[in-house]
Amino acid sequence: MSSSPLHSSLSSPDNPPPDSIPSMLKTLYFLSIELGRIQDFDELLYQAIVRGRHDLGIDRLGIFLVSDDGQEYQGVYGTNKHGVVHDARASRGKIADDSFFTALFNTTERVTYRLNAPLYDFGEQVGVGWNTLTAMWHGDQIFGIFAADNLLNGAPLTPMMLEVLNLYGAMLGHLIARLRTEQALRINEENSRRFGENLRRLHEVTMQLSLLDDLSDLYRQAIILGRSQLGFDRMGLFLMDEATNGIVGTFGTNPQGEISDLRNYRLPIAQHAGVSEMLANRKYAEIWPDITLFEAGVPVGTGWNAIAILWDGDRSIGWLACDNLIRQDAYTPHILELLTLYGTTLGHLITRRRAEIARGEMALEREKLQMMSTFVANISHDLKTPLAVLRNSLYLIDHSTDVTKNKQRMGVMQSQIDHLDRLIQDLLLISRLEYSLTLDTTEVNLNSLIERAIQAILPSAEGKHIYLEAKLDPQLPLVRGAEHELYRAIVNLIENAVNYTPDNGTIEMKSYADTDTVHFKLSDTGIGISRQDLTHIFDRYYRGETARDIVHTGTGLGLSIVKRVIELHQGEIEVNSEMGTGTTFQIMLPCAVPT
Ligand code: ADP
Repeated sequence: MSSSPLHSSLSSPDNPPPDSIPSMLKTLYFLSIELGRIQDFDELLYQAIVRGRHDLGIDRLGIFLVSDDGQEYQGVYGTNKHGVVHDARASRGKIADDSFFTALFNTTERVTYRLNAPLYDFGEQVGVGWNTLTAMWHGDQIFGIFAADNLLNGAPLTPMMLEVLNLYGAMLGHLIARLRTEQALRINEENSRRFGENLRRLHEVTMQLSLLDDLSDLYRQAIILGRSQLGFDRMGLFLMDEATNGIVGTFGTNPQGEISDLRNYRLPIAQHAGVSEMLANRKYAEIWPDITLFEAGVPVGTGWNAIAILWDGDRSIGWLACDNLIRQDAYTPHILELLTLYGTTLGHLITRRRAEIARGEMALEREKLQMMSTFVANISHDLKTPLAVLRNSLYLIDHSTDVTKNKQRMGVMQSQIDHLDRLIQDLLLISRLEYSLTLDTTEVNLNSLIERAIQAILPSAEGKHIYLEAKLDPQLPLVRGAEHELYRAIVNLIENAVNYTPDNGTIEMKSYADTDTVHFKLSDTGIGISRQDLTHIFDRYYRGETARDIVHTGTGLGLSIVKRVIELHQGEIEVNSEMGTGTTFQIMLPCAVPT
């Protein structure tokens, strides 16, 4: 047996190997009890070497762990050429590249050995001697290798030493496997505790999200809360768009960790190979461990990326994605579990909210239809009354020679024709405004429109002894607008004020301007508008409860015309009213930009 040329000057193991089987078994027995008390994995491996040398007289010892797939080995601790136990994690390689390791994997023997083999220290050959490898098994897999040689003491490889190595290897294998199982259990326990905690948070997040009425708020908060409460790094929510068979973004997280608006982001599903595959296989969630990460279609880095599909029955409504771009956290399986659960919850919330909105819209549609049929009933009534009066007057004129009375009758006919004309004008105007996106505009002096409107309405105001007061700012800037439509809006407002103000009331009108806005304010001392009516007065065909008793000829179109005209001028309208006291309408229009 050759030995290291340095062997004589080096420390040798503390004890000689046990000289009999009983004494060896006894030593192993006590050693297993002591090593079995060690709870720390690293410490166990370290002591396995120290005590193997000290108690069992093994010369140089090293331990390697084998990767789960059985392809690679990595050192943990070894003994250097001076007999010092050292960290050997740097020593790693492929089993297939090392014929000695491969030999161990290919035999059913627990120990393989070579005699007269080159012996190494940190990759440098330092001697020749025997060299053994002992497999550490867990079930039917080798998870570790226990190596020994005789570099330091040069002692021959005896059957007794082979037996020591065999039994010590088996014992260590058992201890290491046990500790690993215990640790895995502890990690599992820790994971399930954390998972429980996450479920509790998920519940809280769901409660918060279910309070949101608006879908956009829901999407936005889903990302914000997913990050702040559930601990996801970067998140994004994408929804299916059945019309284009693509997806539409909602909100995401930019590389700086701020919420980003992805509502303009579109992508055909077919371009997302991963998701297409998930959809085809009805998968819930998937993780890509090392992939390019994107922000609205633009690459921003690499890392892991996980996706959970939001299923509604067998239909997908979108997906929820998360990655580790910002924190670069390692991936753990519980991330995917939590993402899947969050995705399912969100899918449910979104579907529910969409159904509620659709129900609301149906109700609104029904309400509109109801209003429309009331309108048709009103209109036919409104048309029938003046037509009946006209027919009646015509008949009387035809059968009477009383010139004075006939003149009166013609006056009545004229006012009925005016009313019919007005009704038809309103209807034509509202349907035209409905379909216009813009109007033909010129520079308009609002004061002159107000004055013209007052002139037109004066007779009916005087008929009710209503005092009209107008304080018009002579310096009023021009507005850019459609003269005819603005005139109608002003007439409608003044006309309403006259209609809904009892005799002897007052109507005050005022025009003024601030930096870039022209204001027209109109206050009456009329019947006022109830809180309930206030929310509807700008709806088409809507007429207040009391209004109907006061003015039989109204159409409920006046204010919807006003509102639409002001909207088309990028203006605003405000109303304040108190029942029994009066009402103030105020319109604000942007000043014309001087050309
Ligand atoms: P109409 O006057 O033909 O009923 P409008 O659209 O002009 O229709 O007005 C809608 C409703 O708003 C009216 O029925 C009335 O209830 C209320 N309203 C409008 N202007 C006033 C006002 N100056 N004072 C009180 N109520 C008003």
